[in-house]
Amino acid sequence: MRIGVLALQGAFREHLQALVSLGIEGVAVRLPQHLRGIAGLIVPGGESTTIGKLAASYDLLPAIRDLAKAGKPIWGTCAGLVFLAREIVGYECQPRLGLLDIKVRRNAFGSQVNSFETWLSIPVLNKVALPEEHGQPFPCVFIRAPLIEAVGEGVEVLARLDGLGIVAAQQGPFLVTAFHPELTRDRRFHRYFVSLVLDNLRGPLPR
Ligand code: GLN
Repeated sequence: MRIGVLALQGAFREHLQALVSLGIEGVAVRLPQHLRGIAGLIVPGGESTTIGKLAASYDLLPAIRDLAKAGKPIWGTCAGLVFLAREIVGYECQPRLGLLDIKVRRNAFGSQVNSFETWLSIPVLNKVALPEEHGQPFPCVFIRAPLIEAVGEGVEVLARLDGLGIVAAQQGPFLVTAFHPELTRDRRFHRYFVSLVLDNLRGPLPR
């Protein structure tokens, strides 16, 4: 099983290393042909306008949409979240995939507090937690992060920042986090994504 990491710009190396640490083969995706044979895709943090423009100019948007149509799991972190969103407040023309029915505000924490770390309880991670991690809060690194302001039906909220907004969500095989699990040593989110990929490969249980 191989998992792709969109490697146009941003923190793709850290995601590739995280996959290696789990014994998973990661593939740096720069061109549509690199998507062949991959079982899932991670879109890293970085600058969503740059990632969008480069993806459009390398003809990657239709190729990634085909992957999504085939039900392959896709996970966007930070700028990747913005790239996967249906609506980006104030940036209607920014190239994006529009895979999750979410409304996103870029750089939602303003220019004063660009970056911070906090610990959030994210119950879904207990599905893949090691015994010593079970129930432990997850270290969330926010760097000029977006917030999810609204979600459509069918979107599951996985984590919120109290009084501010949603910071992790899932719609079927599509996962988004406003923070950067790849910049921490905690591998629960990567394991959770791998579990979605494995579920997808296994297919539905026979009735
Ligand atoms: N502010 C960036 C954007 O909107 C995201 C920042 C990040 O990925 N760390 O594209």
